[in-house]
Amino acid sequence: MNVLVPLLIFITGLIFGSFFNVVIYRLPEGKSIIAPRSFCPSCGAKLKAYDLIPVFSFIFLRGKCRYCGCKISFRYPLVELVTGVVFVILYIKFGLSVEFIFTVFLMSILLMVFFIDLEHMIIPNELVIAGLIGGIALFVLRFWFDDALVGDSQWYSPILGMLATSGFLLLVALIGLAIYGTDAFGMGDVKIFLPIGLILGLKLSVISLVFSIFIGGITGLFLIITGLKHRKSHIPFGPFIVMGTFLSILFGNEFFAWYVGMLL
Ligand SMILES: [Zn+2]
Repeated sequence: MNVLVPLLIFITGLIFGSFFNVVIYRLPEGKSIIAPRSFCPSCGAKLKAYDLIPVFSFIFLRGKCRYCGCKISFRYPLVELVTGVVFVILYIKFGLSVEFIFTVFLMSILLMVFFIDLEHMIIPNELVIAGLIGGIALFVLRFWFDDALVGDSQWYSPILGMLATSGFLLLVALIGLAIYGTDAFGMGDVKIFLPIGLILGLKLSVISLVFSIFIGGITGLFLIITGLKHRKSHIPFGPFIVMGTFLSILFGNEFFAWYVGMLL
C-alpha cells in the first residue's frame, strides 16, 4: 500500500484534532471558538505558531507551558493522535470516497462529544446541529448521486435511523423519569443520535445504539464491581455512543450479516 496518502491523512487528522481541542476547551465554557488566538489556560500567554504544532510541541516542551512552566493537559496530544488514527482507519476502510468524507465528518463531531461529555457530562447542542447540517447535506446528495451513500440504499433509511435510535432513547428516558424520577440517559444522548441516524441510516445506527448500550453496560458493571463507581453515580453515556458508533461504522455490516445468519 502506498504510504504517502495515509501519512497525509494522518497529518490532516492531527491538524483537525488540534482544532477539536479548541472546541473541547471553549464550547462548554461558552467562549468563541474562532477568536481570540490560543492561549495558555494558566498564565494567559498568547501561544505562537511553534507552540501549536500538533503532538510535537507537546513533546518538545515536555508537556509544560513555555512561558509559565505549568503542566499542559495530556488531553491535547491525545485528542490529536486519536483524530489522526481514526482518520487513517476510516481511509483504510473506505478509501477516498463519499463514505470516507461523511464518516470522517461524523467521527469528528463524535470525538469532540467524547471528551466534552466525559469531562462536563453534557453534549452541546452546537455539535448536534453541526452534525445535523452534515447529515442533511448527505441526505440531499443521495437524490442526485447514487454513490452518495454511507448506510442502506433506501432514501428513507436515514429518517428511520433517527426515529428508531433517538426515539428509543427518548422513550427509555421518559419511562425512567416516570418510574424513578431520574433519567438514565440525558437529552444530549437522545439528540446526538439524530445526526448518527441521519448519516448512517437505519441498520448501522441501530447497531451503533446496540453496541453503545453493550459497551456502556459492561463498563458500568465493571466500575461498580471494582468499586470505582457506585450504583447511583452518574456515568456519562456519550463516550460509549462514540465508541459504539465507530465500531458500527467499521464492523456493523459484518455484524448484521453474522447476526442474521445465526437466526436462519
Ligand atoms: Zn502558561
